[in-house]
Amino acid sequence: MTTKSRAACVIGWPVEHSRSPLIHNYWLKTYGIAGEYRRELVPPEEFAGFIGSLAARGYVGANVTVPHKEAALALSQPDERARAVGAANTLWFDDGVLRSTNTDVEGFLHNLDACAPRWDRDLSKAVVIGAGGAARAVIDGLLGRGVERIILVNRTLARAETLHQAFGVRVRVKRWDELAEALAEAALLVNTTTLGMSGQPGLTVDVARLPARAVVADLIYVPAVTPLIAAARARGLRTADGLGMLLQQAVRGFTLWFGIKPEVTAELRRLAEADLGTDKNRR
Ligand code: NAP
Repeated sequence: MTTKSRAACVIGWPVEHSRSPLIHNYWLKTYGIAGEYRRELVPPEEFAGFIGSLAARGYVGANVTVPHKEAALALSQPDERARAVGAANTLWFDDGVLRSTNTDVEGFLHNLDACAPRWDRDLSKAVVIGAGGAARAVIDGLLGRGVERIILVNRTLARAETLHQAFGVRVRVKRWDELAEALAEAALLVNTTTLGMSGQPGLTVDVARLPARAVVADLIYVPAVTPLIAAARARGLRTADGLGMLLQQAVRGFTLWFGIKPEVTAELRRLAEADLGTDKNRR
């Protein structure tokens, strides 16, 4: 047990939905660390002031969620990854300097590595659906791992074109109605849209068009088993789900703030599933 108590928080507007307190407080308890992780409800107009007083409020760092991720980038010293993604979700003090990164990239990749080992043996073609903030993190991660070609499909074509401009020629844009065709020979399919989330419209993807070696990832974690993940599993494809990514992306922040690299255990996953009310969806 360390003697000096440390605190971190998640800052959002709204923030009640965040599962970060469950994850970090589980790890604090597991590793016997004197510390606390709280929610901070901060409106956009108060965000800069809050960040300016983060240390004075007793925080060693913070997670940042909607709608503050771009503002957090501007108010801190971002690493290359946060800059590439255009958003920061994790802040920490380093010799008094407030630094930031984006842990969605490593969360996505570590989860893929854990759920579908050696998925990167075939880096020829990936299909990414969606062109929002999460898609930026996924594309940055996939390009970093050497994926040769990413076919990007988004409802709003212009938004996808912006990502092509930002990430370069390995990202090729296709129209929404070209999705089915794009699936042929894709080694990896990733859904980064909100389609398939509880309360949102469904995502129509014919997984039968994917090759048998394909891996399917969905960033959505409510429900834990999305219709896309269920269809992929029914076809015998390997899958990586959004809850696994959510848990993996939290590892870096905890390590930076509390000095121990925590483990994503089966028990933590069960607690998160129960909290999300999705344990009935477990397979
Ligand atoms: P965002 O920036 O708002 O982007 C939303 C995306 O969904 C856009 O591509 C949007 O297309 C698309 N979309 C929304 N409604 C649609 C519809 N009716 N038809 C077709 N496309 C639609 O959100 P984000 O931050 O990227 O997050 C996206 C999802 O990823 C959320 O479910 C979020 O919870 C999840 N996520 C999970 C993790 C994790 O750790 N598991 C991490 C980050 C994000 P348009 O451009 O056409 O609007």
